[in-house]
Amino acid sequence: MKLNLEKTNKELEGKTALDIIKWAYRTFEHDFIKLSTSFGAEGMVLVHMFANIVDSPKIFTIDTGRLFQSTYEVWQELIDKYGVEIETYYPDANDIAELVSKTGPNLFYKNVENRKKCCYVRKVKPLKKALDDAQAWVSGLRRSQTESREDIQIVSFNETHDCYKIAPLVNWTEADVWEYIRNNAVPYDKHHDRGYFTIGCEPCTRPSRPAEGLRAGRWWWETEEQKECGLHIEDGKIIKKKQNPSWTI
Ligand code: SF4
Repeated sequence: MKLNLEKTNKELEGKTALDIIKWAYRTFEHDFIKLSTSFGAEGMVLVHMFANIVDSPKIFTIDTGRLFQSTYEVWQELIDKYGVEIETYYPDANDIAELVSKTGPNLFYKNVENRKKCCYVRKVKPLKKALDDAQAWVSGLRRSQTESREDIQIVSFNETHDCYKIAPLVNWTEADVWEYIRNNAVPYDKHHDRGYFTIGCEPCTRPSRPAEGLRAGRWWWETEEQKECGLHIEDGKIIKKKQNPSWTI
C-alpha cells in the first residue's frame, strides 16, 4: 500500500467528511482503521458518523486517569446510544507510580518538562500501543483549531506510528461541529455549555473565551508554542523523508 499523498489530498479536498471516511474504508483494511476519541465535540461527531455507516468500527480512547467525571458520563452515553465498543488504553501502572513518587501528583504545574513527562506517560505511550497495528488513524483535528494546525492535510503519513493519518473534519469550523451535534442529537460533554471549548485532563483544562483562542483553556499557564501534548506532534505537514509505511496489504 503506497499512497501518492499529493494526488490523494487533491482528490479528497472539497469532499464531505462522510466521503473521506468511505474512501478510507475502500483504501485500508476495516480492522486496521482506528478512530481515536477523547470525547470532545469533534470526536463525538466522528463516532456518530462511524457508528452510522460502518459495522463494528474500531474506536479507541486513552484513559489518562485524570479525566473529568463528565467525560466518563458522555463516554457511557455514547456506548449506550450507539452500541459501539470503545477499546480503552491506560498508562503503565509502574510508569505512573514512578512519576508520581518522584515528582508528586500535580507535577505538571511546575514546568513544561514535567508537564510533557506526564503527557508522555499518560497519553503518548498508551497511544503507541493503541496504534501498534494501525494502517490508518482517524482523528477529529481541524485546521481552524490552532495556528499549528492550519496546514493539516486530509491524509498524511505519521512516521512515529508508521500509519496514515486521516482528518475528515479538516475543513470544518467550530460552528459546523455544533450544528452537526444539534441536528443529529449527538451526545456531548456538558462542560462545553460552561465555556470549555476543548476538554482534556481535569487539572489541565479550564473554561476560556472565544477571543482567547479555542485551545486557550488547555495548559493555560504555558505559552502558545509550548502547548501540544505530543499526540499530534507531526501534524501540519506531510513528512517529507518518508511518505509510505513499512507494511503492505
Ligand atoms: S494533560 Fe495534564 S494531567 Fe493529562 S497527561 Fe498531560 S499533564 Fe498529565
